[in-house]
Formats: sequence, C-alpha cells, structure tokens
Amino acid sequence: MRTEPKPVPEPTPLTAPYWDAARKGELVLQRCRGCEEAIGYPRLNCPNCGSTELAWLPTAGTGRVWSYVVVERAEPAFAADVPYILAVIELDEGPRLLSVVKDVEARHDTSLIDQRVQVGFEMRGDQQIPIFTVQEEAA
Ligand SMILES: [Zn+2]
Repeated sequence: MRTEPKPVPEPTPLTAPYWDAARKGELVLQRCRGCEEAIGYPRLNCPNCGSTELAWLPTAGTGRVWSYVVVERAEPAFAADVPYILAVIELDEGPRLLSVVKDVEARHDTSLIDQRVQVGFEMRGDQQIPIFTVQEEAA
C-alpha cells in the first residue's frame, strides 16, 4: 500500500486564531458581537448581519452526529485509517463542521445519528486537528 503524509493545515491570518486555540486543546468559533450569531468557519463578516465585529470564543467541544458516512476507500494519506467515520457534527453552539468520529466501530448496521460526541485533538505536523469521540456519560 502506498502511503503519504496527511496534509497539514496552513493557517492564514483569518484562521490563525482557530489553529492557535486547537494547539492548546480548545475548539473555538467566531461569534458576532452585533447579533450573537455563532459562525461555523472563519469569516470576515457575520453571515447573519454583515458586522465585521467578530470575536473568537471557546466552545463546549460537544455536539451530536448530524450526518455521517463510513469511508471504505481513501486517498493514500488516509488509506491506513479505513474504514473510518466522516461526520457532520452539529456543535451545541449551533454550527456544523466536518470531522471524523474515532474510537467507534465503523458499521453499516447501527446508526450514529444523534450520537453525542466530544472533541479531542490529534497531532498532525505542527498542528492539532480536531476529531470527535463518543461522549462519555455524565457521572
Ligand atoms: Zn451578526
């Protein structure tokens, strides 16, 4: 099997606060100071009201599986991970993001829809990549 290194994100001035927080183990989102909208990926303007007054705020790092697929074939960089679960996670703050769910068996006969998940991070190059795992029951 041909293997390649996984791509490492290259922060831009817009996305640097996100990756800086990820390296500290924190998942952050932008929130509009004008209308309080939580924003799913880094932007210059609020998609709701157009304001440029956006702040980076920590999230709880929890949410639910909104949709997912079981990936059974992948590019060389990800081939060693198959089968794996590529999911759209709806964060408790509202925005949805694409990530993977780890430590759960990738099966077709059970559904992960609405499964509670929590963020974790995996080192890749000099960045920490957000991944999700099934949320442990509150004690
Ligand atoms: Zn706004």
